[in-house]
Amino acid sequence: ALAAGEYGAEQTGRVLAHFGRTLEVRSAGGAAVRCHLRANLQGLVTGDVVIWREGEDGSGVVVAAAERESVLSRPDPRGRLKPVAANVDQILIVFAAEPTPHANLIDRYLVAAEATGIAPALVLNKIDLLPDDGGKLSELLQRYRDIGYPVVSATTEQHAGLDALSRQLAGRTSVVVGQSGVGKSSLIDRLLPNETLRIGALSDETRKGTHTTTTARLYAMPGVEGGVLIDSPGIREFGLTHLDAETVTEGFIEFRPYLGHCRFRDCRHQAEPGCALLAAVEAGNIHPQRFASYRQILASLDTPS
Ligand code: GDP
Ligand code: ZN
Repeated sequence: ALAAGEYGAEQTGRVLAHFGRTLEVRSAGGAAVRCHLRANLQGLVTGDVVIWREGEDGSGVVVAAAERESVLSRPDPRGRLKPVAANVDQILIVFAAEPTPHANLIDRYLVAAEATGIAPALVLNKIDLLPDDGGKLSELLQRYRDIGYPVVSATTEQHAGLDALSRQLAGRTSVVVGQSGVGKSSLIDRLLPNETLRIGALSDETRKGTHTTTTARLYAMPGVEGGVLIDSPGIREFGLTHLDAETVTEGFIEFRPYLGHCRFRDCRHQAEPGCALLAAVEAGNIHPQRFASYRQILASLDTPS
């Protein structure tokens, strides 16, 4: 046992949740350890990889943070972007057989995801409501597969409905985003049985007076090899923030080979002669619906809100 003021050897861990200057850290062995931050450290968020040392009373101290691979940010009430999760590998954009998905909305989510540098994947939920041949949605899904995005089908209504999703989640740290009603809560409930939610949870005493409803939490998904989920109500709403025109253009990844090849350097890809994007649409290399989405999103930026 450690004496007062003594600390154990340095260990690596990952931030499970944070409550002010108190962090919950997942040890290499999977235990949740309550840790305090060394005074020189700040701004750590869920998903950060940290170096920590055990203290005498079973709690720990975080002494260093590793460089982040990625950061997911959300606007605070004043509109300033604040990091909410670190080292996320994948943004799962959930849509559903019902409510009927709009390609334009999926494209907005994809653009927002591309802007973070974190890889997006599409999840079509509620496939139990679809005809066997997938109906009209098959064409929509194929469009995204052709661009190179992973697209998986899911249903929370059938026992084996999450096989494809589980494979997509394996070995990655994911967040789940999407419109209200598409089944995000249902999916997460299936992936995280209640038992898991309690593991490592701070005692109610520690949580009192903290932002338990807004802070993001990291979960290891049982039954999904190496699969980690970071979730919070704020993260689920990701994607509907303001974007600038350049970010939108770059966010349509299949446009990238054509950018910089228009006749006019300041081409806005509307009706200009010699526009490489328009030519690519006409040649069938860019889907007209994606191009229509692009224009719609750009037009919405011009409208002051
Ligand atoms: P959220 O708002 O995205 O979190 O969506 P919820 O998880 O609350 O689900 C919205 C509604 O869709 C609820 O009534 C669910 O029971 C229903 N739902 C969720 N998943 C499925 C599914 O796979 N199939 C069907 N038919 N309904 C589902
Ligand atoms: Zn152009």
